[in-house]
Amino acid sequence: MITGAGVSAESGIPTFRGKDGYWRNLDPAKLATPEAFARDPQLVWDWYNERRQRIRKAQPNAAHEAIARLAQHADEFLLVTQNVDDLHARAGLPKEKSVQIHGDIFVTRCSHCDFSEKGRGGSPEPPMRGRLRSIAPTSAKEVSIPRCPQCAELMRPGVVWFGEQLPWHELQRVDNFLDGGGCDVVIVAGTTATFGYIIDWALRPSRDGGELIEINPEETPLSRFATRLVREPAAIALPRIVDELTNRGAL
Ligand code: NAD
Ligand code: ZN
Repeated sequence: MITGAGVSAESGIPTFRGKDGYWRNLDPAKLATPEAFARDPQLVWDWYNERRQRIRKAQPNAAHEAIARLAQHADEFLLVTQNVDDLHARAGLPKEKSVQIHGDIFVTRCSHCDFSEKGRGGSPEPPMRGRLRSIAPTSAKEVSIPRCPQCAELMRPGVVWFGEQLPWHELQRVDNFLDGGGCDVVIVAGTTATFGYIIDWALRPSRDGGELIEINPEETPLSRFATRLVREPAAIALPRIVDELTNRGAL
């Protein structure tokens, strides 16, 4: 199973490309880059702090819940999500059955060394204004950006930005799962599938004759490979499809 921002859209979390995608008139595809952070780390942190707040207030929707149910029923299951929110986990999907291939918005990590921290209880606080100021007072602009307790460099959100490498450990988990054999069914929901690796992961298991179900109101590069196209919002389509699959008993 592969998901993208569209699955969280009905929980009120904007996709990057949708109509509510822009923030302060800025294009998220340009904010979610190492270049934007180097140019204006405060602006990028402001954007991530607002997104963290919005995600904390959001609730999982019927699509997240259906996916958690599917994971429970299937003999073997892995969700690869491009989402950095925690709604799959909050719907009850166990951590060992999901890979957040683009990172976790609630992780804060050093932009220089390997230090990272995740807040408490799954609902961490954003970096505090003025934190560690005494260690590294650089400019007035930077005092509200957290600094690394190990090396004093700027801390950044623990997500994968455009142009960055995917996390090695998470990549291994996807490869190990796919190397373990073909999948009877691959479901791809709420993603534009613009990244080559997403297309590869969607197509690799279904080459052995499995089904490829795409759930997306819009056409994507994967649509022409799908054995079934569902042009509906994920929160409507997924509960029904999961019912069908679990009733069929062939999982
Ligand atoms: P994306 O490329 O995954 O695009 C969203 C897709 O969802 C589009 O194809 C759209 O047609 C589809 N969609 C919209 N509403 C839907 C619905 N109700 N049901 C099913 N499909 C629906 O994502 P993006 O917004 O272009 O973002 C690019 C990157 O940023 C990805 O890594 C993405 O996951 C990440 N991102 C994550 C979140 C999050 O964690 N919730 C939010 C925004 C962006
Ligand atoms: Zn550091």
